[in-house]
Amino acid sequence: MNNGINEFINMHGEKKYAEIVIFEYNFDKIFHYCIPQDLKERISLGSRVTVPFRGKVTTGCVVGFLVESDVKNLKDIRQIIDKKPLLTPQLIRLTKWISNYYLCSWEKVLNYVIPKTRKAWLNKFDITDISSQKTPQLPEDDKSSDNEIIFSAEEIKEIPILKDIENIINNKKFQTILIRGNDFNSRMKIYLKCIRKTLKEGRQAVILAPTESHLSELAGLLEKEFKDNMVVFDEKIDQKAKYQKWIKIRNSQVNITLGMRSSIFVPFDRLGLIIVEREYSNLYKEERSPRYNAREVALKRAELENIPLILSSETPSMESYWNIQENNFLEAELNTGEERENLLKKTIIDMTQEKSKKKIISYKLQQAISRSLKNKKQVVLFLNKRGFSSFMICSQCGHIPKCPNCNTSLSYHLDVKKRAQLICHNCGKRAKVTDVCTKCGSKEIRPLGMGTQKLESEIRKMFTRAEIRRLDRDSLIKDDDYRKILEEFNQGNTDILIGTQMVLKGVDFNNVDLIGIISADTLLNLPDYRSGEKTFQLLSEVIYSFREISFSKEVIIQTFNPEDHCIIALKEQDYNYFYQKEIELRKELDYPPFTHIIKIVVLGEEKEAVKQRAECLISYLESLRKDKESAEFKLLGAVDMVLWKSRNNFKVQFLIKVKDLERFSKAFKKKYDKMLSKHFDQKNRLTIDVDPVRMI
Ligand SMILES: [Zn+2]
Ligand SMILES: [Zn+2]
Repeated sequence: MNNGINEFINMHGEKKYAEIVIFEYNFDKIFHYCIPQDLKERISLGSRVTVPFRGKVTTGCVVGFLVESDVKNLKDIRQIIDKKPLLTPQLIRLTKWISNYYLCSWEKVLNYVIPKTRKAWLNKFDITDISSQKTPQLPEDDKSSDNEIIFSAEEIKEIPILKDIENIINNKKFQTILIRGNDFNSRMKIYLKCIRKTLKEGRQAVILAPTESHLSELAGLLEKEFKDNMVVFDEKIDQKAKYQKWIKIRNSQVNITLGMRSSIFVPFDRLGLIIVEREYSNLYKEERSPRYNAREVALKRAELENIPLILSSETPSMESYWNIQENNFLEAELNTGEERENLLKKTIIDMTQEKSKKKIISYKLQQAISRSLKNKKQVVLFLNKRGFSSFMICSQCGHIPKCPNCNTSLSYHLDVKKRAQLICHNCGKRAKVTDVCTKCGSKEIRPLGMGTQKLESEIRKMFTRAEIRRLDRDSLIKDDDYRKILEEFNQGNTDILIGTQMVLKGVDFNNVDLIGIISADTLLNLPDYRSGEKTFQLLSEVIYSFREISFSKEVIIQTFNPEDHCIIALKEQDYNYFYQKEIELRKELDYPPFTHIIKIVVLGEEKEAVKQRAECLISYLESLRKDKESAEFKLLGAVDMVLWKSRNNFKVQFLIKVKDLERFSKAFKKKYDKMLSKHFDQKNRLTIDVDPVRMI
């Protein structure tokens, strides 16, 4: 931490001036105000206050105190809004860190974190006095048990790593444990025990889940034991309910919070444990400003609060597993359920060997579908949602033209005159479309990028008597239809279900004995350096959800690249193999975790205006190279600037690759606001995404 909040916190009693972030002022500026005598006792870090600002009265948040100020003619703070601030000092620091790390204004972060409140609610739900805090409620049977023991001797004998987890929880210091386990129930047992222990210490716990369905799964189990001691922030929560829950938390009426990404900000002041379930999920990333990743924020919060953090995952993110290799995290592996694997057959089909012309459904997959139908079982065919673009693939040898700079597949585009060309989405490199494969000389090289609709018509031609349904965004108009298709399938009225990722949510696999992955290549070749990782995670999830069934079943994966490390690792269910191969690639090409990527997008309706803004931005970035305090960085996409058209907008995208993000960000922020206000507005927008999870 570099922002000196520390000093200010230690200066209670000398609070003469307050540093205030104004909620409606969208730039990175802190304003100074005088603290009137009668407010001195009540004002603290995180207090929301009303202040005079540019001729009117507005609201702000106190982020620091000063004994002296070099600003002349300071105005007085008018009022303090909350009896007790909604944010804790640690949260003030955390939001400051987010603003620096994710390159957005502090105001944006505070606006996002603090629940919106109406005046009328304030009187109704105001925070009770700090002195009247309740002691945490404990489950009855726990009060008498030994203080130090979390896991029994038998449990530790069976899984020795539990001893390490116990030590870390007892230590109460900052340490990250990554639990690798594909069995939700055994993970849950560990969570419960660690939470009980944390509560017994008089401390509080936050549990994060990536999706609504994972959230309700966890809520069901936690509420059995902690119902009156916890709050759940689900997706549908409104601002009023959110505010009420915050008040409960601030009053220590509850000691556990369960929620999705934004629950990492709940204002517990005695936080003792954070758990992040399925840490690899991309849904921990907020796609609107502030574009934070809750996993990274959890890591920072645990560090600031000096408390243990449990991450858990079936297929850990590259970043997290790299941290284990670097000895930053402790690994706890508890894989079980090996015996169930035997009932699951995994078949990889090399599509370059297929005789049929179209090469959509292999002969083997066709046979397997017939067999399932004959056995009165159901089939799920899985095709990932069509990306922004397709790519070229040689159906003889599986060769895919890739960008020499970025190693991601080149996208196949038709320009306005219907001329085809290949473009790299990351750096803008262009290449000609060739008729002949450069690897094997075959003429069978063409764009690949099939939709579920085409797949459906192929399947209908092959299986004329089967009941076939399609589940994707194109085929759905309403939520009702989605539910209806799922219901029909789960009742056994559908023979073959064709779908995208959506089928993973809500499909009952109990009568399914075949899953067909139609094209692993469309997943593997998204123009994204993470495509291998994403494919491995997604298809592992398919395999895990399928494994629970107790009769023999098969997963068939069709690919033109059966030798890809991702495909081999999937077949063997070997995460370590996948990780080793993938991390070598990342290192070679200087991708995260070895660098940070910052995605910058300029968006607007007018082509020339967008181009001009993009050039301003490039020159701003280039000017940073002269700043000795900035870190070295690579700028991709600036030389061969590509203007993409999406709906009514034109878009230019750059990528920055930088090793020392902290140094770079500091230099970047110096004159950023000036550049932003000079060149950008509602019509021509600029978005900055640090550590993006989606490259296009
Ligand atoms: Zn070829
Ligand atoms: Zn490239």
